[in-house]
Amino acid sequence: MPDTQVSDPLPLEAGSPFELRLRLSQGLPETDVRAALKSGDLGFLHSFTTGATVDGPGVRVVAWTAGCMWRCRYCHNPDTWTMSNGLPVSIARATEELGKYRHGLAVMAGGFTLSGGEPLMQDRFAVKLMKAAKAMRIHTALDTNGLYGQRLSDEELQHIDLVLLDLKAWNATLHKQLTGMDNGLTLDFARRLAQRRRPIWLRYVLVPGLTDDAEDIGHVASFAAQLGNVERVDVLPFHQMGKYKWEKLGIPYTLGDTSPPGEELIQRTIQIFRAEGLAAC
Ligand code: SF4
Repeated sequence: MPDTQVSDPLPLEAGSPFELRLRLSQGLPETDVRAALKSGDLGFLHSFTTGATVDGPGVRVVAWTAGCMWRCRYCHNPDTWTMSNGLPVSIARATEELGKYRHGLAVMAGGFTLSGGEPLMQDRFAVKLMKAAKAMRIHTALDTNGLYGQRLSDEELQHIDLVLLDLKAWNATLHKQLTGMDNGLTLDFARRLAQRRRPIWLRYVLVPGLTDDAEDIGHVASFAAQLGNVERVDVLPFHQMGKYKWEKLGIPYTLGDTSPPGEELIQRTIQIFRAEGLAAC
């Protein structure tokens, strides 16, 4: 789809992913949305941000996609659940935006991370953008919950240097209570990445009273260690920075009274991963 057909009310770059962005593709005909998803010529993005240091190695440019099929109780970007909240961006424009940073990223040993939302809701766009980044010799990382990992072919996986895999919980019941979805396909994707020798950084969000059970974390750690391709585990402390989005969107938020984890709990959790021989921080 040519750029001229795309409404463009906001700059692509945001100060942070915590900016609330709504209804940016409202009015785009459903047939155009479906065609875009099929071809990957057009994506739906919350924004680009620069300077991230926690979404892969070095300093990163991050593209935040719109659309997610999960409903994590601690999600800090519920405005990215709905694809119609995303800004329609042609693959040409997204590639051009990324190209602006290619030299700086090379100097800083950084790269490009595609996050969300869930980027594989727009798997064709994701693949095209990853290929474009690799063509510019930019390191690529995909931040995903893994549910749609099977949408990527083995050849397409080669264009992703690193998968930031979000594993929310081990226990199936807990996982469903937490996200609304099963974790079976996430685990399958992790195993496939291991078979294909594609590196993983595992991400685990630590929420007091919800995902802090030592036994459940132990299962996650044991699974990750057995894969053999998990290079690092990031224990991400729960925070309340997205709370205002839930309130603005009128979505019932169940963690309003939950405090971020204390240092002792964070260190205890990190030690569970380290006890399995994993590099955790
Ligand atoms: S998978 Fe990520 S974007 Fe989707 S609901 Fe969970 S935290 Fe939010």
